[in-house]
Amino acid sequence: MSQHGTDPILQVGYLRSCMDRRFVEATRHTFEEVTRLSGDRYYHEAFAGGALNPTPVPPPNPNPDGANYVYNNSEIPLEVMGWQAHLNHCGGLPGVPDAEIRRRFQALADSGTLQKQYPRVRHVFLLASEDSNHEPQVEIIEPRDAKE
Ligand SMILES: [Zn+2]
Repeated sequence: MSQHGTDPILQVGYLRSCMDRRFVEATRHTFEEVTRLSGDRYYHEAFAGGALNPTPVPPPNPNPDGANYVYNNSEIPLEVMGWQAHLNHCGGLPGVPDAEIRRRFQALADSGTLQKQYPRVRHVFLLASEDSNHEPQVEIIEPRDAKE
């Protein structure tokens, strides 16, 4: 099915997560629940460290940042962006303890950095972790607007 021509314009999303395979499926599931987008309705970019990795592929990098690409492409009806990080050891954040990852991720949500960089869309912050049975779980992190 094409999204061009007479087909209705479908809103789409963008998700950036860590590439850690323990959490990809659960993260996608939660993102789909929260946004009501099906799995073929959003772009997914996965890098070590996820949303807490500020320069996933340092320059020189011939490929555009995926978030910038989808946000700035007028043919992509972007409505929501998801940002994920996870606890329980992240290869993109070596040696960073869970409490510090949680603090950094909450600070990222609270700072409004991504909301200001991509102001036209809704933002969802997802923090993945293992439960006591080592099953993946995903928590929605709400930004706290302490500074305004
Ligand atoms: Zn990771």
